[in-house]
Amino acid sequence: MQIIMMGAPGAGKGTQAAKIATKYEIPQISTGDMFRSAVAEGTELGKQAKEYMSAGKLVPDEVTIGIVRERLAKSDCEKGFILDGFPRTVEQADALGKILSDLGKEISAVINIDVPLSDLIERGVGRRICKSCGATYHIKFNAPVKENVCDACGGELYQRADDTAETMTKRLSVYEASTRPLIDYYKNAGVYVEIDGRQSISAVTEALNKVLLSVEG
Ligand SMILES: [Zn+2]
Repeated sequence: MQIIMMGAPGAGKGTQAAKIATKYEIPQISTGDMFRSAVAEGTELGKQAKEYMSAGKLVPDEVTIGIVRERLAKSDCEKGFILDGFPRTVEQADALGKILSDLGKEISAVINIDVPLSDLIERGVGRRICKSCGATYHIKFNAPVKENVCDACGGELYQRADDTAETMTKRLSVYEASTRPLIDYYKNAGVYVEIDGRQSISAVTEALNKVLLSVEG
């Protein structure tokens, strides 16, 4: 089962990907993880990626794609995998298609956890984090018993500097604009599935499981 997970920051993509990974015993692979392990293993591509990252530069596509190719060829991917955060562009999607066909595999589904921008902003703006233990709250959806005090440890809650409506709108607009071509690309390929991410975490999981059941068969 080869799954690609899409979703804006804050849509709950990572949480859901982790659940699928556990249930189907397949690895959840994020670009960050791939870079870190390639660097740690000291592979040729890992070394190249490290040079770019240490210089604060974006890792070029050919290096990223090479790292993805090496990762997906590993034995733990035999039963499948969930890609979390890759591909990000149509060029990368093309490259991924080539990698998979070389491996004799194809994409089972591209699942987008869809949450409207306005909802994501509400989620982000209401987020509060404990200074002491890092627990997260939401002033509306998951409020602490006592305002601005952590239920778990009594620590003070704060709002992250980039969790303002303005910075979030900017960040999410960039995300939306950059992923729109990718959505069209996978729609045309007939593998795109959208799940309403405004539901509860468990309802999203249930919807996901239905999709996976249909592609598994
Ligand atoms: Zn706390």
